[in-house]
Amino acid sequence: MLHTIPNATIKRLALYRRCFIELYDKGIKRVQSGELSQRIGVDSATIRRDFSYLGELGRQGYGYEVRTVLEAFNNLLKTEETQHAVIIGIGNLGRALLNYFSSDKFNDLIFKTPVDLIAAFDIKESLVGQQIGNLEVHHLSGLKAYIEKHQITYVILTVPPAAAQKVANSLEGLGIKGILNLSSTVINVAEDIRVHEVDLNMELETLFFYVLQKEQGKK
Ligand code: NAD
Repeated sequence: MLHTIPNATIKRLALYRRCFIELYDKGIKRVQSGELSQRIGVDSATIRRDFSYLGELGRQGYGYEVRTVLEAFNNLLKTEETQHAVIIGIGNLGRALLNYFSSDKFNDLIFKTPVDLIAAFDIKESLVGQQIGNLEVHHLSGLKAYIEKHQITYVILTVPPAAAQKVANSLEGLGIKGILNLSSTVINVAEDIRVHEVDLNMELETLFFYVLQKEQGKK
């Protein structure tokens, strides 16, 4: 099903899901597409078109049942067939992410993410054996065996830029499908691994450019 969804819609799906999780959290049972549009800044027609990929979800004038939409997302994302992930590099950022993903909230079926973080790795001996969030830090030397034993398919990379490519190279040929690269540098890996780059500094720069462009347009 996912392969028939346009890329632009896929990018918005996580945004919709987050918005519905927030509504669910607040005890809101139903939402109109106009209201949704205001909340997330996507026009109603686009929302209706995007939601058509999730199946029959809303009736004209009735809006969307929050729980039904969340269940449809879970079906689409196959959250019951959770994939396993590890995080590599447990410094400031890795530690913050570990604490975030340890929230009990992610055990709730509705909030469940399709990728479950199950182990943490670092090269620093002093970190090995420490419990951060609800996971224990392992030494990097055990990574390959761990990936093979636990059928790890995703990796979150939070190592310093200078270490990122070397770590990425070591992940090839182990069945890894995706790397979420937060290490502030570009990495190159075999084509069968999808890399998703996240860099807050770049996001801030992009925001800055949009604001600048808007301000210059006014002059
Ligand atoms: P840090 O120095 O606090 O932590 C890095 C950790 O990686 C350390 O614990 C270190 O022992 C470990 N490490 C080093 N080499 C390793 C290797 N080969 N294998 C496994 N572990 C290794 O750094 P930080 O502040 O947590 O930042 C980590 C990375 O995240 C940096 O690249 C930084 O630029 C980046 N960063 C990205 C964003 C973002 O938005 N993407 C935000 C902040 C920081």
